[in-house]
Amino acid sequence: MRSTHRAHQLIREVLSGGEVVIDATAGNGHDTLFLAELIGISGLVYAFDVQDQAIGNTRQRLEKAGLADRVIINKTGHQEMDRIISREHHGAVSVIMFNLGYLPGSDHSITTLRGTTVAAITQGLQFLAPGGIMTVVCYPGHDEGNYESKSVSEYLGRLDSERYSFEKYVNEEAKVSAPFLIVITKLESL
Ligand code: SAM
Repeated sequence: MRSTHRAHQLIREVLSGGEVVIDATAGNGHDTLFLAELIGISGLVYAFDVQDQAIGNTRQRLEKAGLADRVIINKTGHQEMDRIISREHHGAVSVIMFNLGYLPGSDHSITTLRGTTVAAITQGLQFLAPGGIMTVVCYPGHDEGNYESKSVSEYLGRLDSERYSFEKYVNEEAKVSAPFLIVITKLESL
């Protein structure tokens, strides 16, 4: 199963409506729309991207589905999410999605970068609610993606196992450069 599909499958199990969630890499808006559908009329999605094209495509997709009012779209790097997420949502976010890399069909030089990705993941972990999950799809098939995948894996693999569970989904039959998924769950406090 593709990493992005596995991420969707796991997120469906967590969301039932009314939640606050974050799409850290909006891109063409597929994941943002997926989240907006699941959180329902009383939920909220924060979406981030740095490219005008991505912001435009995401807005258009949401408007076509009539769900734009459930989403706060930010043309801001995800590494600045801590100044965007409302204080009332700190520690109350149910799902955070990172689908790393570049915008398909666009300029491949504008890609997520290991330093800012790890900074954003660090902030995101603080925003997660107990029982909330963070999904990170990594793309080691290009140079920066390879470095980024290693940095992200090492960073997340070192988290305190009493506070976070760590799962890595790798398609064993695919090439070593194939995308993979990391899922972090913030454990309920004892
Ligand atoms: N989730 C998207 C979808 O459903 O279409 C696909 C995301 S695409 C693989 C990765 C996106 O990350 C690109 O659109 C790129 O512009 C964006 N990106 C790159 N650096 C970023 C940053 N610092 N903050 C937020 N988004 C960033």
